[in-house]
Amino acid sequence: MFSKYFHRFYRSSLEEIALRRRFPLKLPLTEYPLGELENGYRRHYLHQDIAQTITIGSIWLLPSFLFIITDYFMHAGQGPFQQLLPIRLFLLASLALALFFLRRIKNPQLYDYLVLGGCFIMLAGVFQANQLHPQIHTHTAGIDYLLLFSIYMLIPNRLCFRILPCFIFSIANIASHYSQAASLSGPVLSIIIVSLILSNALGIWASVRFYSHRRQQYEAQTRAQELRKDLIHNALVDQLTGVANRRHFFQAAEEEFSRFSRYNRTFSLLMLDLDHFKEVNDQFGHPVGDKVLKELSRTILLHKRDSDLFGRLGGEEFALLLPETNLAGATEIAVRLRRSCHTLAVPGHLDIRITISIGVTQVRSEDASFDDVLSRVDKALYRAKNNGRDRVEVA
Ligand code: GH3
Ligand code: MG
Ligand code: MG
Repeated sequence: MFSKYFHRFYRSSLEEIALRRRFPLKLPLTEYPLGELENGYRRHYLHQDIAQTITIGSIWLLPSFLFIITDYFMHAGQGPFQQLLPIRLFLLASLALALFFLRRIKNPQLYDYLVLGGCFIMLAGVFQANQLHPQIHTHTAGIDYLLLFSIYMLIPNRLCFRILPCFIFSIANIASHYSQAASLSGPVLSIIIVSLILSNALGIWASVRFYSHRRQQYEAQTRAQELRKDLIHNALVDQLTGVANRRHFFQAAEEEFSRFSRYNRTFSLLMLDLDHFKEVNDQFGHPVGDKVLKELSRTILLHKRDSDLFGRLGGEEFALLLPETNLAGATEIAVRLRRSCHTLAVPGHLDIRITISIGVTQVRSEDASFDDVLSRVDKALYRAKNNGRDRVEVA
């Protein structure tokens, strides 16, 4: 909730400046928006982000140890050192603990908050050192800028969660230097202030550019994957009915025939054709005919086994490939399918009655190719038509 408020405030104030200025001010207001891809993007990079944050956090554990040593030498193990030691150890332990828990995180939101907490701990450690040794801050100021750089560029987090700790740290640092103005000369103080402002401004600008690029890359990659899936889908699936198209069906059938030739695994084939379908089209129109084809496909998909492949060979002619099924089993299925068509109801046209004719065959040892099986089942279907339709013929 807090982050939302901060984000809104940050955005609206900058946008307001841009509006008042009457010319488009190119400010890094937000990172490249991903819309509905946002969650996928966060999940996609979560593992990588955690690994990176643990590496960077571990690197920062080293100076945290060094601060304890510098404290010791600067205060010769006296009062201030002893007062500081528990605070230092507490911050160190908290940072180590945050890094430890980071490994187990599966939720991007939890990651954001834990990392935000970790950043505050690191900044608190550095701030404390600055407070304690203001006279040497001119020599150690580089650590401040490196830490700000790490938070902006190397520790992935939401933009507002990168800005928040860095802003608070910078303002607190400036305020603390002002309150101890005697320890630093005016020009040195000005340089520190300008450097902090620059670090934040450059940090925001560079990190927004960097993460926007990563987001754009993710979007392009996701869209390309979707496109590839669509292309594969369109190459394999019949647009109208959603069942396997002719090409896909024949590919699968050829593979099944190879399995039969090599391992003697049997299969059967059904060929189905709607009876007097032309009359349906003539009487109710082509769109209603399409509905019938869709409804028939839906019914057969409901009745077939998962291992069977149902395909549209063209027009109102379909085929069902039945792996590991003999002629008796295939005939049983054909009879069931023929009957199921009697109760087929076309939405909005319940008066339409549909029947189908089916040819059935099983692969035989004398078949030289799948074409032989196909030509036999085609003849069986032709016989079913000639013998009065709405029937199953076996070959
Ligand atoms: P039969 O019992 O002998 O099979 O008669 P039939 O009328 O079903 O067969 P015919 O081959 O004479 O006609 C097939 C019809 O199927 C003609 C064609 O308009 C229609 N058809 C083919 N593809 C589609 C399609 O995608 N949508 C629609 N609505 N009709 C189609
Ligand atoms: Mg027909
Ligand atoms: Mg036909």
